[in-house]
Amino acid sequence: MKLSELYKGDRQTLAFEIFPPKPEVPLDTLFESIEGFKALSPDYISVTYGAGGSQRGRTVEIASKLKNQYAIEAMCHLTCVGHSLEEIDQMLMTMKRENISNILALRGDPPVDQPDFDFSKGVFRYANELIAHIKKTGDFCIAAAAYLEGHVDSKQLREDRKRLKEKVDAGVDVLVTQLFFDNRLYFDFIEHCERLAIKCPVIPGIMPIFNARIKNMTARSGCSIPAKLVVMIDKYQDNPDDLRKAGEEYAGRQIRELLDGGAPGVHLYTMNKLTSTIEILKVAGLKK
Ligand SMILES: Cc1cc2nc3c(=O)[nH]c(=O)nc-3n(C[C@H](O)[C@H](O)[C@H](O)COP(=O)(O)OP(=O)(O)OC[C@H]3O[C@@H](n4cnc5c(N)ncnc54)[C@H](O)[C@@H]3O)c2cc1C
Repeated sequence: MKLSELYKGDRQTLAFEIFPPKPEVPLDTLFESIEGFKALSPDYISVTYGAGGSQRGRTVEIASKLKNQYAIEAMCHLTCVGHSLEEIDQMLMTMKRENISNILALRGDPPVDQPDFDFSKGVFRYANELIAHIKKTGDFCIAAAAYLEGHVDSKQLREDRKRLKEKVDAGVDVLVTQLFFDNRLYFDFIEHCERLAIKCPVIPGIMPIFNARIKNMTARSGCSIPAKLVVMIDKYQDNPDDLRKAGEEYAGRQIRELLDGGAPGVHLYTMNKLTSTIEILKVAGLKK
C-alpha cells in the first residue's frame, strides 16, 4: 500500500525506522526482533540506506522481506549521493520487482572521509532532482526529509524552506522530519508549511535518547537540545540504564503530546531496539 493512501484517512499512523546491520552481521539477527516489532502494529517500517551506498542491497532485501514474508508495509530510503543514473535506475527496478511502493528519497551526506565532497559531480545534486526522476520513472509514493530547524548546510532558514517547497513540488507525497526534542518546533513548522502551501502530511520523526552520544549526533545535524534535556542527560551520565529509561519516558511523552496536538502520525527512530520501543509506546498510550 502506498503511504499516500494511508494518510488519506483520519487515523493517526505509527511507523518505525530500522537500519540494516553491519555487513558482517547476518540479517537473521535483525529479523529475530521483527515479529516483536510487528506485534506493536506499525502501519509501516522504513529501512535506512547506508551512507554513500554501502549496504544498499541490504535496504531493499530487508524491505522486501518485511513486505513479502512478514506482511508489514515497507518504505526504502534511497540516497543519490555518489550514484550513477544507471545505479539509481537499477535500484528502482529492483524495488518495483520486490513490490516496494514507498521510497524516502534523499540526497544523502558526503562520505565521512570527504568533508569537501563536491555534490555537483553527481547525477543528482539535490533530493528534488532525484524525486523528479523517480516520479517520471515509476509508480512510487515518494517521501522526503524535512528539517524543523533548517538543514545543517543551509545558511538561512528562509532559503531552506524555499528549497523544501521546491522539493515538495517536484513530487513529494509525505514529509518526515529530522529528530527534534521540543514539540513547539513541529507545530510552528506546520504553520510555516501552511503559509508555503505545502499540503502533504508532515510526520514527526522521534529519536529517543538512548545514551549521552545524542549530544554529538545533534551537534552534527544542527538540532537543538532543550535545557531541561541537557540537565537530564548530565544527571544520568554515569548511569546508562537510568538515562535510557528517562529517554524512553521523554520520547513517549513527546509522542503523546504530538498526537494529541493533531500530528498525522509518528515516525519512531527505533535504532533497532525493540525493548525500548515497547516502553516508549507504553508511555505514549499506544501499547497496554
Ligand atoms: C527522516 C530522515 C531519514 C533519513 N534517512 C537517511 C538514510 O537512510 N541514509 C542517509 O544516508 N541519510 C539519511 N538522512 C540524512 C540525509 O541524507 C541528510 O540530511 C542529507 O544531508 C540531506 O538530504 P536531503 O534529502 O534532505 O537533501 P536536500 O533536500 O537535497 O537538501 C540538502 C541541502 O541542500 C539545500 N538545497 C536543496 N535544494 C537546493 C537547490 N536547488 N539549490 C541550493 N540548495 C539546495 C537544502 O536547503 C539543504 O541545505 C535522513 C534524514 C531524515 C530527516
